[in-house]
Amino acid sequence: MPNAQPNLLDLVLYPDPGLREVCKPVSAMNDQVDRLIDEMFYTMYDAPGIGLAAPQVAVQQRVIVVDVSEGKDQPLALINPKIIQQAGSITWEEGCLSLPGIYAKITRPNHILVEGMNREGKQIQIEASDLLAVCIQHEIDHLNGVLFVDHLSNLKRSRALQQYRKLQLQEENEEK
Ligand code: ZN
Repeated sequence: MPNAQPNLLDLVLYPDPGLREVCKPVSAMNDQVDRLIDEMFYTMYDAPGIGLAAPQVAVQQRVIVVDVSEGKDQPLALINPKIIQQAGSITWEEGCLSLPGIYAKITRPNHILVEGMNREGKQIQIEASDLLAVCIQHEIDHLNGVLFVDHLSNLKRSRALQQYRKLQLQEENEEK
């Protein structure tokens, strides 16, 4: 019996060391990866978020899902994604499901060409700009153990993480 309803996965939160690992490439498309992609989309839309990387759901594999559309109807899953060209510059206020509650302006290339495998197991290339480019780069960073706050200056990063710890403590206190 196939199980149609995907599971909602637990989000891995900073400072979990799993967020600092370099993830392994997926050697070939299979049912386990297909199922993971369904569950990642389900978890991302539920959060809600516009992107999610496998290590954020405790799977150390090179898989990302994104959907930056208004209607949440343009899901994009990429396996073993790699940026092969980049140009321009854009500053966007980023957030992260693994660092809930904090946001920071990050500057990244504005146009990228990404190569990877789609969920049908086919090698594809995607050109992306603006928010989609930002989101794909943010998610690929996760596969390399990099978080958006790592792009900040030391001072701004320690302020952001201080703010995050404060929010986490407040949440813990509210739960008591
Ligand atoms: Zn993130």
